[in-house]
Amino acid sequence: MGFDKPLLEVDGVTLQYKTPEHLVTATYRVDFKVWPSDRFVLLGPSGCGKSTLLKAVGGYMAPTEGEIRLKGRVVTDPGPDRMMVFQEFDQLLPWKTVKQNVIFALEASRRLTGRAAEERAMHYIDKVNLTGFSDSYPHMLSGGMKQRVAIARGMAMEPDILLMDEPFAALDALTRRRMQDELLTLWEGTRFTVLFVTHSIPEAIKIGSRILLLSPHPGEVKAELNSVGSPAEAMELEARIQQMLFSEAIEEAENV
Ligand code: ADP
Ligand code: MG
Repeated sequence: MGFDKPLLEVDGVTLQYKTPEHLVTATYRVDFKVWPSDRFVLLGPSGCGKSTLLKAVGGYMAPTEGEIRLKGRVVTDPGPDRMMVFQEFDQLLPWKTVKQNVIFALEASRRLTGRAAEERAMHYIDKVNLTGFSDSYPHMLSGGMKQRVAIARGMAMEPDILLMDEPFAALDALTRRRMQDELLTLWEGTRFTVLFVTHSIPEAIKIGSRILLLSPHPGEVKAELNSVGSPAEAMELEARIQQMLFSEAIEEAENV
């Protein structure tokens, strides 16, 4: 595939929830483009609509306004071309082993079956360093290991884009850092396109090749930032982002 076209286009997307009492606007006219091999991060405070945006890209929710296109085609339904990794540790089937969980996804989506599915599953289980655990059941694994299985399952489907919704947020600090490193190593190997959601500024800077900063509820694009190289630049970027979020908070307080 050429690199001359964006893989994912989010074009003026407003997302709303209808509750019996009122209409909740989760995001307002959000625009961004994800290019092949981007590690594109959506960063913003809790409640700014990050998960909602990911749900819409996943095809689980239709925009009230605007359009989402994957490879130029309007997204209307979920599909195996967009695999999701969630924050929760319970996204695996508890009665299936690690390997069976990955194979199940491949077979259910008719990506692969039989021997080919098993080989593909083992390939990605190796990649996330769980070779010795392929026959273990999810309850036998730590939180970090379960997240690795979810990542292996997502990658095994070889989707156009991997959607990750705060996948490391429920892990302890050390495991979280190790998982971030592992994700970057995995990415170096295959350069898959990833859309990663987080509310952590350091995590966004570490993971992202590009960062879309969203304002608090309802989420609007505040800035689009490029990744940085050196630790000094990273610190500077962190301060800049903090200031942007802080000024927003002050504006909001003044408007009350
Ligand atoms: P984030 O992932 O950035 O924390 P969400 O996308 O989960 O934010 O939520 C954005 C906004 O939409 C919040 O105000 C939240 O309360 C609201 N919201 C989320 N899910 C629903 C729902 N199912 N029904 C009504 N409102 C919702
Ligand atoms: Mg969320």
